[in-house]
Amino acid sequence: MTAGLVFHPDYLLHEQSPGHPERRERLSYTIDQFREEGVFSHRSIRLITPQPASRESVMRVHFSEYLSFLEGSSKTGGFIDFDTSIPIHLWEAALLAAGGAIRAADAVLDGEVENAFAMVRPPGHHARPGTGAGFCYINNMAVMVRHLQDRGVMKILILDWDAHHGDGTQQIFYEEDSVLFTSIHQYPFYPGTGSVDEIGLRRGTGYTANMPVPAGTGDESYLYLFDTVIGPLAREFEPDLIAISAGQDNHFTDPLTGLALTARGYSEMMRRAVDLSRDICEGHLVAVLEGGYSVEGGLPYTNLGILAALAGLDLSCIREPSGFLEWLRKVRDPSAHRGVVENANALRTNLSPFWRCFGSS
Ligand SMILES: [Zn+2]
Repeated sequence: MTAGLVFHPDYLLHEQSPGHPERRERLSYTIDQFREEGVFSHRSIRLITPQPASRESVMRVHFSEYLSFLEGSSKTGGFIDFDTSIPIHLWEAALLAAGGAIRAADAVLDGEVENAFAMVRPPGHHARPGTGAGFCYINNMAVMVRHLQDRGVMKILILDWDAHHGDGTQQIFYEEDSVLFTSIHQYPFYPGTGSVDEIGLRRGTGYTANMPVPAGTGDESYLYLFDTVIGPLAREFEPDLIAISAGQDNHFTDPLTGLALTARGYSEMMRRAVDLSRDICEGHLVAVLEGGYSVEGGLPYTNLGILAALAGLDLSCIREPSGFLEWLRKVRDPSAHRGVVENANALRTNLSPFWRCFGSS
């Protein structure tokens, strides 16, 4: 099988400020690691260069007034919130990120590759139709989903595993039954949303599944949620494509969050997602990078882990950054799993009227 890696050197240009967590080193260190591991010459990985998204594509998600504000502010510099300023040239950077997600989707739909990882920045999952937030400007995932729908893909399962709840993506699809939005995230935490009681509205009721997890949650809990919530939902929903908002900030070294996923855990979760996609949707799977702020200790390893899983490579070589295992012992809380199971049970109860796998008749 071949996995597509969508990347553009200009993804290293965007910068709010040199000390900002969402900085260019997030990907420059990953690219160095990929070079060292021979990723770019591997026969199972194809490097794909994206084009910027068109204004029409991003207007499928965002209001015209907001896009004009972004474009105008990108000429002078501007401000959205405390974490999210608009540096000069942001507009071009944001369109290229959204274009990366679109290119990844096209590569999979057209059979160029079996699955793909759009390794883009800036991220997108906090962006809503009328505003950016939390380092995000244009919702790359939502723009990609609208593009897929325009190409005739009827049903899409989103799995957002970023440590922060994907509030923007949830809001955009909250009233739709053709997009099943699932999310694992630290809770309570920024942005404050993502409880098990948020299950969608109107026609979309039952098509949002939030799996909040406490700080200290590790690999076994993520795999438990994958096997007992996401897998059963996916098999019943029968999507045409699985779209993963791949936030890499659950890694135990991440400076902004309190979770304890390992690089090996990430790769195993992606391997299960690949297996699931083969069972139910011909292997059609696209991952889009969201967060991840451990620029040296986490991201190069987690990005390599999920790409290796997409390409079907031996995952036994996926390792944790040396010298960090003591850190893992401090961050990981074995008692967190109890809270994970309690929340998952509450979610199953809330969704049971809508899904046979959770008990509806
Ligand atoms: Zn995040």
